[in-house]
Amino acid sequence: MHEFSLAKEIERIVAETLAERDSKLSQVNLVVGGLSGVLPDALLSALEFISSEGPLKGAKFVIREEPAVFTCSACSAVTNPQPPIFCCMKCGSVKGELTGGTEFYIESLEVEE
Ligand SMILES: [Zn+2]
Repeated sequence: MHEFSLAKEIERIVAETLAERDSKLSQVNLVVGGLSGVLPDALLSALEFISSEGPLKGAKFVIREEPAVFTCSACSAVTNPQPPIFCCMKCGSVKGELTGGTEFYIESLEVEE
């Protein structure tokens, strides 16, 4: 239930943000990286469950998935490997660096004025 505690954390952050203004939440935009360990479907289910009441009530949730990014030190290509395979998609080298895909954050909140 990793995603459930993440959903509760999102609820807490949204509640804090909305407390400073008098508007109704309509949409929460989230970014989930392919290497973040967060399952978008499970997170959506958890959010839908806890949004039946409280500060997230009635809100829509949109998750943008960011792919893993591998920067190859052999051929300098920047590619998007599919987990659980982490190598250069151009030359197959495993020498390089994962430079993206670990992110998980709330990108923006949309409110009704
Ligand atoms: Zn390469």
